[in-house]
Amino acid sequence: TISQLALDMDGNLSGACTTSGMAYKMRGRVGDSPIIGAGMFCDNEVGAAAATGHGEWVMRTLGSFLVVELMRNGRSPQEACEEAVLRIVKLKPNFNEVQIGYIAINKAGETGAYCLHPGFNYALYEDDKNVLYDAKAYLK
Ligand code: ASP
Repeated sequence: TISQLALDMDGNLSGACTTSGMAYKMRGRVGDSPIIGAGMFCDNEVGAAAATGHGEWVMRTLGSFLVVELMRNGRSPQEACEEAVLRIVKLKPNFNEVQIGYIAINKAGETGAYCLHPGFNYALYEDDKNVLYDAKAYLK
């Protein structure tokens, strides 16, 4: 999945995501990416979030919507991403068999990212430059 979240100079949020789906997917499978609230969600009053990884678990928890709702209730983008990953950890036996990652931004421009396994990179464009970050991970 490639997702992009943006906060413009007028303070408006937007988001988009695109995916090739899962490798060896079943014919006709629809992943999380095209489902608003699962693979991506943006609420201009609160924040935006997007997911990558095994979409079945993102859909089951309506992950991007969950991240935005957690931010609405006061969590930082980082805390919200972590809680959404932990929701899947609690729900899925053998959670280490899947990869899940979230990115998020709030109305103030604060950002967060969290994933299950290490190795999830994201870029943040700020002050006229792109900086690449390693997302924090639940598993070491
Ligand atoms: N989230 C996508 C899916 O489940 C896979 C990906 O990360 O590209 O279809």
